[in-house]
Amino acid sequence: MKKVYIETMGCQMNKSDTERMLGMLSNFGYEETKDSKSADLLMINTCSIRQLSEDKAFSLIGTWGKWKKTRPDLKIGFCGCVAQQKANEIFKRAHYVDFVLGTHKIYSLPEIIEKINRGEKVCECEETHKTEDNEASKYNISRVKSINAWIPITEGCNNFCTYCIVPYTRGRERSRLPEIILKEVKDALNSGFKEITLLGQNVDSYGKDFTDRQYRLADLLKEVNAIEGKFRIRFVTSYPTDITDELIKTTVELDKVCEYFHIPMQSGSSEVLKKMNRRYDRETYKKIAQKIRDMVPDVTITSDFIAGFPGETEDQFVETLTAMEEIGLDYSNTAAYSPREKTVAAKWVDKFIDEDTKFERLARLNEQNRKCCLASNKKFVGREMEVLIENFENHKGKNVITGRTRNNKIVHIPSDVDLTGEFVNAKITSCKTWYLVGEIV
Ligand code: SF4
Repeated sequence: MKKVYIETMGCQMNKSDTERMLGMLSNFGYEETKDSKSADLLMINTCSIRQLSEDKAFSLIGTWGKWKKTRPDLKIGFCGCVAQQKANEIFKRAHYVDFVLGTHKIYSLPEIIEKINRGEKVCECEETHKTEDNEASKYNISRVKSINAWIPITEGCNNFCTYCIVPYTRGRERSRLPEIILKEVKDALNSGFKEITLLGQNVDSYGKDFTDRQYRLADLLKEVNAIEGKFRIRFVTSYPTDITDELIKTTVELDKVCEYFHIPMQSGSSEVLKKMNRRYDRETYKKIAQKIRDMVPDVTITSDFIAGFPGETEDQFVETLTAMEEIGLDYSNTAAYSPREKTVAAKWVDKFIDEDTKFERLARLNEQNRKCCLASNKKFVGREMEVLIENFENHKGKNVITGRTRNNKIVHIPSDVDLTGEFVNAKITSCKTWYLVGEIV
């Protein structure tokens, strides 16, 4: 067996692509290694959401390029979102790379391997605008053994938010076929996974592009929920105005679907949201969040925010801080604005916020996030909650099991027994900013 090492950067979609690529490579005589120095094939699955990730990718393959001087048989592949965006340009910047593979063509990997082994250089980055499910069903998926299986249901996005590179790197939105998704769910459950997360840039528009059937996310959730056995179902990421009442009702009715919504708001200022080309304003988001809270008991709602979007005034930024609190968001991912080539906002150079202001705003955003998260955690102290245990470790001399509640709160529980993969009932005894502390009841 030859050895392959894949460095995966960025989001769960990239992690899922890596699992698919490892599955394909296992059919062609490669086994995964975690030691890059012992690999015959080195691959990097890149992320282009921020300039920093792109810089890190080039720095890492620079190191690999040096190894090639003493190991001429070593093969190097540059994959993922930066590959999709830059294609042949990669060879100019890194001549030692053997192949460049974009996000649309991962099922070309077997042919690429044959070609590079014949000494050819290959670039596969055309946009296909279709899912490759027929190809997908031919190959295994080499899932990292864990509790939670991430299963893509849509690829790409049609929204073109002015800051976002995704429509350029992942293409237009395509829904994967329910029969292929259900097979992947069953395979994951049969190999011991206890939680299924249905994944997409905008999961709520799942099925909008089907021409041969009326089938949406709520239908898919019903079918996954009907599979026998004890497991949980989540779905991310939701676009605020695409969340239908039917979807919220389905979440309540189906016992395996968890009380958790991840709904990026991005800014609390309606003017900034307009410039971001988001299709809602502050009030609309608030109403949607309130409706979900009214309909789904114990639900948590998490979000994403950007600090320092081009032209953002201090007052508009403060609107973001107040929105987080007013809406009572349970947790938010935060980032400073990073201009990405090809996107609309990247052209507004004269409106860019200086770096010091941007990072000062990010620090205040993080502080507000900490407050919101602690306030949210406090609500659950004294409650009894079901926890799915994800790991067991010795922390400062004490054995602890850690897991998540249905509404995605992290819980630490003292235990000398490793209960990884088990569902336990825990009484929440206290909390910190980022987690709850409990005891088994
Ligand atoms: S909806 Fe999300 S993935 Fe799509 S363009 Fe906007 S930020 Fe990017």
